[in-house]
Amino acid sequence: MTDAQTIDRALRRPWYRTVLEPALERDFDNHRDVAWRRALTTYVIIVALLSLFGLVVDAQGGILYFALVLKLGILLPILLLCLLLVLFAPLSERGRWFVLTASIVPTIAIVCLLATAIDSPFTARYLTVAGMVGTYVIALPIKSRQAISLCALNITVFFGLTLAMTSPAEFAAVADIIVFMSVVMILCLELVRRQERTQKDSFLLGLREKIRAAELSDLVNELSRLAHLDGLTGAGNRRSFDLRLSAAWHAAIANREPLTLMMMDVDHFKSYNDTAGHAAGDACLQAIAAAIASGAGCPVEMLSRYGGEEFALIFPANTAVDPEAIRRGVEQLALPHPGPGILPIVTLSVGVAATFPDREGASMEGLINSADSALYEAKRLGRNRVVVKGRLPGMARRATDAVPASPHFRVAQRERSPH
Ligand code: GH3
Ligand code: MG
Ligand code: MG
Repeated sequence: MTDAQTIDRALRRPWYRTVLEPALERDFDNHRDVAWRRALTTYVIIVALLSLFGLVVDAQGGILYFALVLKLGILLPILLLCLLLVLFAPLSERGRWFVLTASIVPTIAIVCLLATAIDSPFTARYLTVAGMVGTYVIALPIKSRQAISLCALNITVFFGLTLAMTSPAEFAAVADIIVFMSVVMILCLELVRRQERTQKDSFLLGLREKIRAAELSDLVNELSRLAHLDGLTGAGNRRSFDLRLSAAWHAAIANREPLTLMMMDVDHFKSYNDTAGHAAGDACLQAIAAAIASGAGCPVEMLSRYGGEEFALIFPANTAVDPEAIRRGVEQLALPHPGPGILPIVTLSVGVAATFPDREGASMEGLINSADSALYEAKRLGRNRVVVKGRLPGMARRATDAVPASPHFRVAQRERSPH
């Protein structure tokens, strides 16, 4: 994908430089392809119709049969071929150049031939028509380089055929028209150059706008992501917790499903902080957040940091999250707790509550209070345990069941205790 700097560089190109960098030039061609095909289709149809109507003048000038042979035998088949290519062929840059040349140069050549064959009163008119065909390029979305070579070819045919097919005296009689039309063709080149530049500039500006809009939208997404994340642990922050709970609550109402809230609090963390220092406390919180996420089988971002050393997880029914596995995961980190007279390792207390949000009397505050009181209960019962309030889908535990502290914890506590 082209970046904004490349586009800015292309927009600052010198006035005489019409060609863009290859990738941009290709994009420009593709961007303009439909317009190019439409313009050339119109051109081919107009020339074909004019050449047929021109048969009336050919007949008046006494060259009907010659005109019929040239037009029906050569010009119209060539124009038909060009039309088919324009309508149906996937054309490369060279292909476009071929179609353009094949549709314009033979037309000029045939009109010049008719001009030299017809009686002199008509010659000037025919040559003017041939010159106008050559100037038509300004109406086509054509590139300067193509226009220059096409113009050179047109003028060569214009001069060459007329000179070859007429006597010097006849040529001298129409030379002013030939020269005049050739000059007009050359002047058209400047219009083609300006037109190409304008079209390319507007293409580049549009592209730059698109890129900027995409960059801005990425930036907004990233900022919004960061605004909902806790900088220390990478978990969602309190704002994101509120939003998640509200979204999950409404989804549960819509699906008539229960919703579960898990509140987790690091045990005796103040003492950890006071003893090990704030920086170690921060590192400990990061490790715990990662362990909780891994126990829940979700990315850390899905976890919410509810308060200082409190985390929360919201999950709908049918989600296989095991609070006991989360508690055990933190315990198995076996982070030494340096606090005096308490646990030898850092542990986690978990309170879990579930409710049917679509039932009467259910509220988000009620669910938070229930999970909070389950957590309080876990603390009261001795910490490092799970207390579940209410029957949870997929969990075979009754209300206010408490999972006792694990053997690992008991062993560790004994080793630490002097008595
Ligand atoms: P309990 O087992 O009852 O939960 O006791 P506790 O000491 O963990 O609870 P308390 O609420 O008394 O202390 C929480 C401490 O968590 C207080 C503060 O020092 C610490 N804390 C809160 N946020 C951060 C933080 O971002 N970084 C660090 N290092 N410590 C924090
Ligand atoms: Mg706390
Ligand atoms: Mg605590």
